[in-house]
This record gives sequence, C-alpha cells and structure tokens, in this order.
Amino acid sequence: MHPILQKALQGKRLTSDDALEIWENIPWTQVVEAGHTRRLQLLPKLEVSFTAYRLINYTNVCDVNCSFCSFKNEVNSKQAYVLSLEEIKSKALEAKKQGANQIMFQGGVHTGIELQYHLDALNLLHHDLGMHVRGYSPIELWRYAQHWQMPLKDLLELLKKAGLGSVPGAGAEILSESMRKKLSPHKLSAELWCQVMGECHKAGLEGSANIVFGSDESSADIIEHLNAIRTQQDATGGFNSFVAWKFQAQTKDFYLRHIRGDEYLKMVALCRLFLDNIKHIEASILVMGPELGEMALYSGANDINSFVIEENVLRSRGLRSKQAAINFIQRAGFKSLYRDFNFNSFSPV
Ligand code: SF4
Repeated sequence: MHPILQKALQGKRLTSDDALEIWENIPWTQVVEAGHTRRLQLLPKLEVSFTAYRLINYTNVCDVNCSFCSFKNEVNSKQAYVLSLEEIKSKALEAKKQGANQIMFQGGVHTGIELQYHLDALNLLHHDLGMHVRGYSPIELWRYAQHWQMPLKDLLELLKKAGLGSVPGAGAEILSESMRKKLSPHKLSAELWCQVMGECHKAGLEGSANIVFGSDESSADIIEHLNAIRTQQDATGGFNSFVAWKFQAQTKDFYLRHIRGDEYLKMVALCRLFLDNIKHIEASILVMGPELGEMALYSGANDINSFVIEENVLRSRGLRSKQAAINFIQRAGFKSLYRDFNFNSFSPV
C-alpha cells in the first residue's frame, strides 16, 4: 500500500500535500480500499445510518445569482413565492404523517421578508409541532443579519430561541477564492463562510458540511476546500458529518464536467482519510444515485444521508421512503440505523 495511505491507516494526520498526492497520483482502487479500512477502524460495526426530513423552501426569491442555480427567482417574477405560515404548517404535518419529524428550512435570500416571519415559522415548526428544524445557509444568515442590522451572534440567538436546532453547511460548493469568483461572486468568500459556520457552532447550532465538485476546479481547489473544513472543525467542532456530491446541469451559465464513478468514490475515500476530525462520512444517494451510493459504502462512507420529502433545488435520484432506505442499506450488506439530523440518537430499524 502507498506510504501515504499507510500513514492515514496508522491514524496520523495527512497534510494537504499528502491529500494532493492521493487525489492526483494514487490509483483510485487503493484509495477506496484505504477509505473503507479506515472507516472500519473508526466505526467497526457493519452499520449504516440514514435519516428523513422534509425540505421546506420558504421562498424561491434570491438575489445572490449563483451561476449554477436554477432555483432562484427575481422578486417580481411570475414564479416567485413566499410560503404562508399555513402552507408551512401543512407541509410539516404531511411530513409528520410520513414519519419525518425533521424539517430543512431554507430560502433564497429574500430581504423583503420580515424577521418576525422567520421567528413565527420556527416557533410553529419547533414549539407548536415539536419538530427539529435545520435551517439557513451561511449566506442567508449573513445577509439577514446585515439587513436587520444586528450582530450575527444576536440573530443566531433569536433564531435558536424561536426553534432553530441546527444548520446545514449549505452553499460551500468549493471553498477557494478563485472558484467562488467564477461560480458565485456574490456569495460569501471562503473565509466568511467558515466564519459564519464557526459562529453557528459557538451558538450551539451544529450541522453538516459538504463539497460540491465537477466544475473547472483544480486539484488544489479541492484540497483547499477540504483543508478549510478540517481547520474550521479543529476550531469549533460543529460538523457532525461531511458529504460530497457533484454539480448538476441546472443552468448553462457555468462550466460543468462529467464526474466518473471512480472519481466520486475516490473523493469519498479521500474525505474519510483527510477529514480525521469528522466522524460521519455520507454517501450522496440523492445526487449520485443508488448504484454509486452503494459502492461509496465500501469507500469510506457510513451513512446514506436521507430520504427527502420534496426536493426543489436538486434533481433527486434519492430514495423515496423509510422502507426504501432500509432495504437499500440491508441489500448493501449492512444493518440499518435510523438517526436524527445531528447523529445524537440511533435506532436499529
Ligand atoms: S444557490 Fe442559493 S444563494 Fe445561490 S442563487 Fe441559488 S438560492 Fe440563491
């Protein structure tokens, strides 16, 4: 086995140069084997977890204009919407009926919506309906704090008190300045994205992190991204999991390249080996599909993320029900565990 992979399997921290060498020069079969071996060292039980949630996009209005996004709408467009509290309630109740007690609550960045709307929605979902709410990407939090002229810390406290339970590490894509300028120049810089996530972690709002790749990022951009996540995790420790997926052809406004299956599996394994301070590595069945997802469970991943009720942003290839998730995991050769968003509770199912 390559000495860098041996180093990872001895529990030694890999450097960015090691990660670059793995990504560029070590055959994917070796990397994947090391990724799975490391997973079994850290999580020896042959168990794979999943969860369930309903995505509620409270608005599709957004002024950030990321090049790869087809979800955004201008405020005056015919398709623009802001959900009423009644609509939010009815979506949440439908989710409960299907056995999902968790909500992912995300926009658009729409500064025309009052702060009180957010507080009411969170109160409704969490305090009235008893659901865990994971919500808001760093750009929403940052822009809203600016718009309402309050320190981010104060906004997070308000949202948390109203019912926000955790945050998705959304909108990271590739955390390198050159890629952010190309893909989403009006989104947060890489540094600011990390800063906002750090503030969330300090406020007790844990969550996940991800990488979205498959544009014209370089290998160095990918390693820069992984290093930024690992460094932030060392500092504030709130990333419970990490998931990699690829850009989809939602618009023609950015460069999109094909991600081969072996490249995706190598990425999963690299994440397992390099992100030594993040316990759970997820396979993105939602975007990558079940065939690759199954192989990712033998490349370092120990979780299949979620079945999602109502996906508006990504073109879903995901599993449609709790039973489908259980069947998928068991067919892949693992025991299935139902978990919550934050990986605090696991029950065999
Ligand atoms: S990706 Fe998010 S922030 Fe960017 S334009 Fe789309 S909705 Fe707005």
